[in-house]
Amino acid sequence: MMQHYVATKEKYKDCIVFYRLGDFYEMFFDDAKTVSEELELTLTGKDCGLKERAPMCGIPYHAAETYIEKLIEKGYKVAVCEQVEDPKTAKGIVKREVIRVVTPGTNMNSQGLDEAKNNYIMSIVCMDERFGLAVADISTGECQVTEVDKAPKLIDEINKFVPSEIICNQSLLVSGIDCLELKEKLSICVNSLDDWYFDDENCEKVLKEHFKVLSLEGLGLSDYSCGLIACGALFQYLYETQKSDMPQMTSVTPYVTDRFMVIDSSSRRNLELVETMREKSKKGSLLWVLDKTKTAMGSRMLRSFLERPLIDADEINRRLSAIEELNTQGMLRDEMREYLRPVYDLERLISRISYQSANPRDLIAFKTSLEMLPFIKQLLNSFESNMMREIQDEMDPLEDLYQLIDSSIVDDPPLAMKEGGIIKDGCDENIDKFRHAKQDGKQWISDLEASEREKTGIRNLKIKFNKVFGYCIEVTNSFKDKVPDTYTRKQTLVNAERYITPELKKIEDTVLGAEDRLYSLEYEKFCTIRDTVAGEVVRIQKTARAIAHLDVFSSLSLVAERNSYVRPKLNNKGGLDIKGGRHPVVEKMIPNDMFIANNTYLDKQDHRLAVITGPNMAGKSTYMRQTALIVLMAQIGSFVPADQADIGIVDRIFTRVGASDDLASGQSTFMVEMTEVANILRNATADSLLILDEIGRGTSTFDGLAIAWAVIEHVSDKKLLGAKTLFATHYHELTELEGKVSGVHNYCIAVKEKGDDIVFLRKIVAGGADKSYGIQVARLAGVPENVLKRAKELVEQLVTSDITSAVRDMTKKEKNSEQKPHYDEVDMTQMSFFDTVQDNSIVDEIKELDLSNLTPMDAMNILYSLQNKI
Ligand code: ADP
Repeated sequence: MMQHYVATKEKYKDCIVFYRLGDFYEMFFDDAKTVSEELELTLTGKDCGLKERAPMCGIPYHAAETYIEKLIEKGYKVAVCEQVEDPKTAKGIVKREVIRVVTPGTNMNSQGLDEAKNNYIMSIVCMDERFGLAVADISTGECQVTEVDKAPKLIDEINKFVPSEIICNQSLLVSGIDCLELKEKLSICVNSLDDWYFDDENCEKVLKEHFKVLSLEGLGLSDYSCGLIACGALFQYLYETQKSDMPQMTSVTPYVTDRFMVIDSSSRRNLELVETMREKSKKGSLLWVLDKTKTAMGSRMLRSFLERPLIDADEINRRLSAIEELNTQGMLRDEMREYLRPVYDLERLISRISYQSANPRDLIAFKTSLEMLPFIKQLLNSFESNMMREIQDEMDPLEDLYQLIDSSIVDDPPLAMKEGGIIKDGCDENIDKFRHAKQDGKQWISDLEASEREKTGIRNLKIKFNKVFGYCIEVTNSFKDKVPDTYTRKQTLVNAERYITPELKKIEDTVLGAEDRLYSLEYEKFCTIRDTVAGEVVRIQKTARAIAHLDVFSSLSLVAERNSYVRPKLNNKGGLDIKGGRHPVVEKMIPNDMFIANNTYLDKQDHRLAVITGPNMAGKSTYMRQTALIVLMAQIGSFVPADQADIGIVDRIFTRVGASDDLASGQSTFMVEMTEVANILRNATADSLLILDEIGRGTSTFDGLAIAWAVIEHVSDKKLLGAKTLFATHYHELTELEGKVSGVHNYCIAVKEKGDDIVFLRKIVAGGADKSYGIQVARLAGVPENVLKRAKELVEQLVTSDITSAVRDMTKKEKNSEQKPHYDEVDMTQMSFFDTVQDNSIVDEIKELDLSNLTPMDAMNILYSLQNKI
């Protein structure tokens, strides 16, 4: 057995092998050590012919799913090696085989999957400076394919789908993509596969066979040579891990990458699209406001809308028109929503049905869902917009399948599949026959019990059943002497004896024989029904998508109605004109409609960049995020929180908000900030929307100001970038740029002074703020009066220092180094970024050192001489 184990492990080197031994799954050697550490299980040992006992740990078979789940969550892969023959009838060692490999991206277990989220696996192939990628969710049967030509674009695609697992060819690992970062930052499990997976001819063959087509043109993949390889490799990997021919994967959809808006991972976090930054909770995110869906399919689709907003105005308008129509037919919408409520997760159900892992209760859940479809389809007749008509067309009421299940499976079946009680009476003659035999047998037994009592005079004689010993007559010790000779003793208990008689044995054989036959007939029938349903996977998947769309649009419509959102107009000229815009989440958090609405105007001509000043807490971040969210909402096809909105479609939204520390990755706040700025400046286009909040805050005042300044110049310059930008800053000096740099305008968030206090008006107005009101804000926060007083004195001293004039000099753009302003007085604590001493001779000397041949003493001497040079 151990030899077989070792051979199996050799085949599944990268997996933890769960090896079935009786009622346990056991792990051996390193797997055992890993699992015992990760899951806090006891490590034991097993003699296995080696000098030392093999480390071993085990888990009961019925609890396996939970343990597998935990390991998958931690990024491991698990190969389940099962006994594939009955140990009772097996000769010699029981035959065992790996029956599936569970990986993060191929997990089908309903416990482990978040129903409101897709679980994607992505296959990436890097070839001749191009990347082909295929992404699939095997729990719903969705599969998409595309190609990109540059590494940053590949990262964009990864960000759009956030897969839980990536498989790739070896070349990807050396292509400049930082796989470690993918693992650490996005918790994606990345594995490279052997080259044979990516053989182009083989990939083509695999796909043709899977989709039963003669040419790839039929799949729309003929223009995607790398995409095709990624997809072929993915299917081979799925076959291999799932040990299934993946019948639920019924289609593959090629897509062009610029169909969707790009939002990089830090902007997603900053904008709190699907979870909040701090608590990582849905509550407080945009999704929380928008998601009033009734079904798991709907909530997954809404989430995917948010993760992949659209770029094409026609496509967006189709969605908006559906919502508009649902708004005008609110009663019908609400009625449909009621029908949607009992609809289960059809997409995942049909995948489990196709996989033959669905149990009888799953089929009943499936039936309950189907019951609603005809009503919904009927109501959909009253709608006219293109999108709604399409939903109506795609929705198949699946009445035949409803009938099939309804006529055959009982309404409340057990979870177990092999213990009968599944099939309705009158559905199958054979089943009825054995069921009657079984029931009659029960009657015979109770008759026998009564007659034996009478015959023997044993009042408390009972006929009992147990799975191991079968039927027996139980007599307590006090009546032992009354037991007739015809009884044969079978088992002795503490205070009773159990017997069998020839008559009871005969009845037992009939009853148990009937029961066995009945159970296996019921199981067979159940499997046939399940397979018949599985055969209709394409119709069911289509219907599930239609339901998901309907659910999303009704949810968006309801949210729009409840929160007084309006339909945005879309334009391709780039102009952004929002009147009375509100932050969709903050307005929900503030009581009594106290949220103050604001306008936003940006265009590609003279209003490209708004410099926004105002004290802390004035509402700058809220204002900027609300603009980004309104644009994003418009592009997913939702109504928006505003009185009026004309949205120039953007290709990307970038946000750089606040100074968030990333201690986990060992980077300083400033480094994180600058990495994000670098990413924005390199990847933004003239059609992007940039939200930049407090750039330069993480370093010294003067460097920070200089960097912020240079960024504004770059971003607003039409030749360099010219992207629409909102730029919040606490450097009032930047207001000097209005009129000097074209396209730049000043705005501030108004506050009113009241003696030593300030009142936030939350209203954005043209012009720059002249004061930062830091001390007043500190007072609001409860800083003690003596500290505030001292701070005020210091401000007065500092105002007379040179910083203001230094800034004036910068606007003149004089490059004369003689006139370099001295700012050390105001900034003693932080060392300047640009002023860092750099002595190249020292650097060169260090570079040339041959470290591997240095003794510690030499090293000390060299250090000493270097120090003397400084
Ligand atoms: P800043 O970025 O200027 O420091 P924030 O945008 O973080 O300020 O806003 C601070 C708080 O002010 C928010 O948490 C919110 O409660 C409130 N706020 C912001 N904008 C508005 C508004 N338009 N109407 C009402 N309250 C607002």
